[in-house]
Amino acid sequence: MSTDNTKATGHSGVCFDTDLIVRYGGRGPRYTSYPTALQFSDSLTAADYRAQAEASNALAVPLSLYVHIPFCHSLCYYCGCNKIVTHNKARVARYMEMLNREIEMQSALFDRSRKIEQLHFGGGTPTYLDRDQLAGLMDRLREAFNFDDSDAREFSIEVDPRTVDAGRIRHLAELGFNRLSLGIQDFDPDVQKAVNRAQTPDEVRDLVESAIDSGFGSISFDLIYGLPHQTVESFNTTLDLVIDMKPDRLAVYNYAHLPQRFKGQRMINAEDIPLPETKLELLHHTIDKLCAEGYVYIGMDHFALPDDELVHARRNGTLQRNFQGYSTHRQCDLISLGVSGIGNIGNMYAQNAITTMEYEDIIESGELPIKKGILVDDDDLLRADVIQALMCYDSLSFDDFSAAHDIDFRSYFANEIERLKPLVTDDLIELDDTGVVITAKGRLLLRSIAMVFDRYIDQSENDNRFSKAI
Ligand code: SF4
Repeated sequence: MSTDNTKATGHSGVCFDTDLIVRYGGRGPRYTSYPTALQFSDSLTAADYRAQAEASNALAVPLSLYVHIPFCHSLCYYCGCNKIVTHNKARVARYMEMLNREIEMQSALFDRSRKIEQLHFGGGTPTYLDRDQLAGLMDRLREAFNFDDSDAREFSIEVDPRTVDAGRIRHLAELGFNRLSLGIQDFDPDVQKAVNRAQTPDEVRDLVESAIDSGFGSISFDLIYGLPHQTVESFNTTLDLVIDMKPDRLAVYNYAHLPQRFKGQRMINAEDIPLPETKLELLHHTIDKLCAEGYVYIGMDHFALPDDELVHARRNGTLQRNFQGYSTHRQCDLISLGVSGIGNIGNMYAQNAITTMEYEDIIESGELPIKKGILVDDDDLLRADVIQALMCYDSLSFDDFSAAHDIDFRSYFANEIERLKPLVTDDLIELDDTGVVITAKGRLLLRSIAMVFDRYIDQSENDNRFSKAI
């Protein structure tokens, strides 16, 4: 049923309800992990990390590697990443030397028999590194770890289109990468100027063609809505250009203007940022358009073509929520290398030092650069699985969950079931004695629904430690 404020979006399986979005679309975690990084404490030490790594070898689950390259050539004003804008080669060389030492220390902890099935280079700008630096780094990783080189591997790299040409794309394929993530954000020249990130559609189109020719199996684009000077009309032109290039996956993120926290954002004139109602229109139009053009809305900002593995995984029950958003891969232990990286080994999350100075100093002293983290308990694991189910499948069967986890869901989560009831009244979910199903309206407010099961959140407050849900 539609009201004035409610509009079903034809092919997407979501329904826009402006009143509900305004009311619920407050702040909340993105749940790329549960517990979230806010619960990490500095009581977790490098010794804890070593103990967990050793214990994890007995289970011998495969491994996933994340490598953080923090450097960028220039500042994109909207950026909230952990990055360093520099042209200082000595600074980069020192970081690479310390990264190599961390690779040595980390690889010594894990049995060689455990294969690296997933690899992700993020940043900053991984392609800030030149060919020799990147090839050298991949050589070192291959020497230190047991890489799975089969077609089943998922080796991805974030690419700033301004830093590569067709030759470099071929080189990335030769190094073993088979997935590309291109930072697009917006093609409109006025928007690009206002955020200091200029790249033409032709340049990006050439890179996409090179990637397809080089055998990349998956190409994904990142876009951002809510940037200065964006209008529905201008963003529609960007979407037309993007759809024409047919990336397998798209992530469309909300720009969070937090100039107190991210200095670079002070370069953005707040008056040029679209009003909240325009941002909602931008999101609404984006979902409508992408889904009308054949993309499937996976959830939480992510879209994929119907034959993409993410869509199959959502259908067959193997979709995962993780630090990269969504993944099809079975659960691996995640080793994170580089400044600020977050690893997940067994029942532990561990984060490296946040600043390069501290990261490098700790490694220089001969220690792992672990600064904080958390050992998750059984209750955390249960809640993490509930949140996964809601985020990945929009539903939860109480009986299935009880059987899989050897608990009585209805009594264990009796308080949470009570707290779900107002969401029924508002038509975000359907709830009965068998389980929860998220409605078309609720699909845009997944984190508000998941927050009910987050024991670390003050349920009575709109917690301002998080970015806005929409
Ligand atoms: S958006 Fe990417 S390229 Fe731009 S400053 Fe941030 S990390 Fe660097």
